Amino acid sequence: MAPNLSVEARKRLIKVINKVKKMFPAAYPVKIKTVKKNRSKQNYGRIQLVDKDKKNIYFHITLMQTDYEIMIDTYLHEYAHALAWKLLHNESNDAEFHDEGWAIEYSKLYRMFIDPGNENPNT
Ligand SMILES: [Zn+2]
Repeated sequence: MAPNLSVEARKRLIKVINKVKKMFPAAYPVKIKTVKKNRSKQNYGRIQLVDKDKKNIYFHITLMQTDYEIMIDTYLHEYAHALAWKLLHNESNDAEFHDEGWAIEYSKLYRMFIDPGNENPNT
């Protein structure tokens, strides 16, 4: 049974998602979908680069509906893949590499999240 997010938790989640997108734009638009626990094969999250016709390219992040903290952490993890994609010009449609490029992006996002008042983590 997937726990339902409270209205407050949902608001905070959307706020973090939008703030991350704004502060750290990815190379392509990022679409997010949440799925119920039993449909996601034990993965908390996943990211794909969708480019069916080379005109409408976007990242698609799937998040499992679970606790707010886990969803945030998973979103930051997956979003870092989108940013590392930009960094590495990775042409693959699936990112499961947790290399240095990903780790650098993840650390930026994580730092922003643990210190939300810090509008510019690079200074
Ligand atoms: Zn990953």
